[in-house]
Amino acid sequence: MASAEMMHAGADTAADSERAEHEKYMRRAIELAANNRKAPFGALLVDREQKKIMAEGWNKSSQHPAWHGEMDAINRCVEQHGKPDWGRLTLYTTAEPCSMCQSTVIWAGIPLVVFGTSVSGLLAMGWNQIGISAEEVVAKSPFRRCRVVGGVLEKECNALFVAARAK
Ligand SMILES: [Zn+2]
Repeated sequence: MASAEMMHAGADTAADSERAEHEKYMRRAIELAANNRKAPFGALLVDREQKKIMAEGWNKSSQHPAWHGEMDAINRCVEQHGKPDWGRLTLYTTAEPCSMCQSTVIWAGIPLVVFGTSVSGLLAMGWNQIGISAEEVVAKSPFRRCRVVGGVLEKECNALFVAARAK
């Protein structure tokens, strides 16, 4: 029988491996953000079971106001996979989804969102942002479950947004 200590160690290992996986995909989101250095919002959708990247995207709001990185990834996922099994997907994004993108995540039924820079962090850096956190959208959407994990590679993501503001 496992002791309480061993069980605790097991839980830590699971958390560590989860963090490593989140960081791996966040690095990819940061790479994607390089496609738009003025608005470095990169995003990807990953199938948690198959460990497979299903779709990638980045901000194209100069072409369409709703074309945020998350929307780009979601749109491409539909284009490339028809009807994806949203419940298996995790959304990775360099910045916390805005209320529009988080609402789309809710409508899709994506149960896990992982971001680097927070909405409040973007506001503090001088970015125009609607001041609603992803958690607030989740809290107002009791018909769906969605876990939001923030602060993954936050320093690296913050650096993208500081650099973009300086341009
Ligand atoms: Zn958005």
